[in-house]
Amino acid sequence: MKSEQEYGFATLCIHGKKHLDKHEADQPIRAVSTPIFQSSTFAFRNAAHGAAIFAGEDNGYVYPRLGNPTQTALETEMAYLEKGEAALALSSGMAAATTAVLTCCRAGDHIVAGDTLYGGTHQLFTQTLPRIGIKVTEVDARDPRNFARAITKKTRMLYVETPANPTLVLTDIAAVAEIAHKAGIPLVVDNTFCTPYLQNPLELGADIVLHSATKYIGGHGDTVAGILVGKQDWILQARMEILRDMGGCISPFNAWLLLRGLKTLPVRMDRHQENAHELAQFLCYHPKVTEVIYPGLKTHPQHALAKRQQRGFGGMVSFLVAGGREAGRVVMDSVRLCTLAVSLGDVDTLIEHPATMTHSTYDEAALQQVGIDPAMIRLSVGLEDVDDILQDLRQALARI
Ligand code: PLP
Repeated sequence: MKSEQEYGFATLCIHGKKHLDKHEADQPIRAVSTPIFQSSTFAFRNAAHGAAIFAGEDNGYVYPRLGNPTQTALETEMAYLEKGEAALALSSGMAAATTAVLTCCRAGDHIVAGDTLYGGTHQLFTQTLPRIGIKVTEVDARDPRNFARAITKKTRMLYVETPANPTLVLTDIAAVAEIAHKAGIPLVVDNTFCTPYLQNPLELGADIVLHSATKYIGGHGDTVAGILVGKQDWILQARMEILRDMGGCISPFNAWLLLRGLKTLPVRMDRHQENAHELAQFLCYHPKVTEVIYPGLKTHPQHALAKRQQRGFGGMVSFLVAGGREAGRVVMDSVRLCTLAVSLGDVDTLIEHPATMTHSTYDEAALQQVGIDPAMIRLSVGLEDVDDILQDLRQALARI
């Protein structure tokens, strides 16, 4: 009989740790699917019990802004899959980013981040954090030395997204983690594109992993949520200071949707990347396509790094069409099967225009600097029959 350490990833996604330590609230009912604890408060056995929980001497639940049993099941599972000590589930990926920053930084502090980020994170870093006295320097994350050069005495955190949205630029996690640790500060890695199935940043030296669980973790385009994974003490601080005070809590139902999504994560990711690879190859040979960006292609400048630090190349493909922004508009207006929508990681194939949609928070100069060309189209490749996606793109590209 295998021990839980030896079970494969798919087995762990389905069974989690529940065969070992199925959480106590679940036990009397013995439900196989974790129940949704849709309650806005929890009763104490007596006044002493309530006081003990408030004093941190007992682990019971108090009030679901800080946690509920469905959320705990999700957090246990995510910590396990990301190989971390503990996790915190939040209302969105942006709530996770804000919570990570506010747990590590205060007014006067400084962050060094990769310069290619989801547009909302870029907006948080360049517009909102400066309003509360936290400065962010964004650097080209392809060269780890850029992080070392930008660190000052006030730097409290390094932050990267790898692969980055939408240019699929990679950061060498181990190299940047070493730089962070030399400076005595943590490295946060947004692992949304890879999921723990394809990459475990903590194993590579990162300190905190962040997910927009809205994407592949949920996987079905029906939930908004975020996750942080890290050391027990840090997660406790994030929960008891920032989550408690800012209130970005996840609903029990959304936590349950993510638990359900996790059960099929490896199967979905395999199909996402199989379809993405085939689509990337099709686009490479299309006369109307001038560039295809996919870490799985040998032509991707960081293909070797992708092979080294990831266990696969994921389901995101970006490409540029001949004829610039106008030609791109024609493609997006001509697709019939692919859905013209932001977000990613859904079962449906989603197509969007980063420069005017997800990354419209970057000004013209910043777009140019990080290589988000006006002709770039981003595809989140879904789980449909790949021939149907190919045919749809073929007919849309023919209209240019
Ligand atoms: N990180 C990445 C890589 C994203 O793509 C997104 C959203 O698209 C976020 C974070 C923010 O997550 P959410 O939309 O769940 O707040």
